Amino acid sequence: MPQHFDTLAIHAGQPNDPETGSITFPIYQTSTFAQDAPGETKGYCYARTENPNREALERLLGALEGAKHGRCFASGLAAANACIMLLKAGDHVVASKDIYGGAYRAFSKVFSNFGMEFTFVDPVDLTAMAAAFKPNTTMLWLETPSNPKLAITDIAAACAIAKKHGALTVCDNTFATPYLQRPLDLGVDIVLHSTTKYLNGHGDVISGALLTNNDELAQRLHFLQNTLGGVPGPQDCFLIMRGIKTLSLRMDRHCENARAVAEFLAAHPKVETVYFPGLTTHVNHDVAKKQMRDFGGMVSAELKCSVADAKAFASRTKLFTLAESLGVVKSLLCHPASMTHASVEPEVRRKHGLSDGLIRLSVGIEHKDDIIDDLRVALEQVPS
Ligand SMILES: *Cc1c(COP(=O)(O)O)cnc(C)c1O
Repeated sequence: MPQHFDTLAIHAGQPNDPETGSITFPIYQTSTFAQDAPGETKGYCYARTENPNREALERLLGALEGAKHGRCFASGLAAANACIMLLKAGDHVVASKDIYGGAYRAFSKVFSNFGMEFTFVDPVDLTAMAAAFKPNTTMLWLETPSNPKLAITDIAAACAIAKKHGALTVCDNTFATPYLQRPLDLGVDIVLHSTTKYLNGHGDVISGALLTNNDELAQRLHFLQNTLGGVPGPQDCFLIMRGIKTLSLRMDRHCENARAVAEFLAAHPKVETVYFPGLTTHVNHDVAKKQMRDFGGMVSAELKCSVADAKAFASRTKLFTLAESLGVVKSLLCHPASMTHASVEPEVRRKHGLSDGLIRLSVGIEHKDDIIDDLRVALEQVPS
């Protein structure tokens, strides 16, 4: 099997069907599997424990991330929650403060009730990150590029800090995808994906995944997957596998379009700040260049206007749909303070540097001139 990413995306985990010759991996829409004698299975017993579509997707994602083991979940958050379930009461987690709002909500509102402790730190300031470690710190939680400000954490350097303290590092790789960044190669123990986003790419599935090279962790995650039960259905796994076949083509276009949008916004008089790791003005542009193949399809910006006018702008675009989520072929935009990060308390948002005027763009793969025209027209109506 050739090892290039584009080839693996189409072949890994999905041989032609030996029974029928079907070139597409069939959907095994079943809840259970016949046994030849009690306990004598053909490899599958019950579809929560394992089903062929999930297994195929797990192999495919493993091949793309350079991981020996993959585990798929019903959502990115179900995957995140399984990761936290590796811990026990009394454990402390150091997490980046600029993370997915739903992960912050799960950490601060649910898991903190079970005796786990979370400290949120600046994802860029590694000295502060190192200082947050305590004797009971057992996990470092990274998300890079981060959500929504596209901060970049130096993955290898952060992993070195965690290793020194004997803590595991989890890295949410949703924004980059394995095409742009492979955190396991940089020392991360577990990679997390919301496969809902770029991996599926077509905006029609909710699902998540964890990848690791650690045999013991993989076994524990499989146990948790089966025991907690947040598993994806076979149709969803099938759709994600279909989406992944075009991942590299889509990502190349997302990256090209996002760069054009970032450059357009950076030069626009009504735009205050643009957050895009591909701009040389980005705080960690050099780190992004070192650890990523390209800079991704997400761009965030602060407009030079009131919060009300920023929200009006977000409601005015025609090509960009005002919607939560990201990483789909269609351009989407959101106002994090009232949408994806509404579950983060206003004072915590301020403390974490997330302003109420920030707009987040998930730049799609439409023609870039149309994308930029849409933004230009919507910006014209922003009062200056
Ligand atoms: C969407 C998202 C999640 C959560 O995934 P779901 O599939 O919505 O549960 C986690 N991390 C990041 C970076 C995300 O964008």
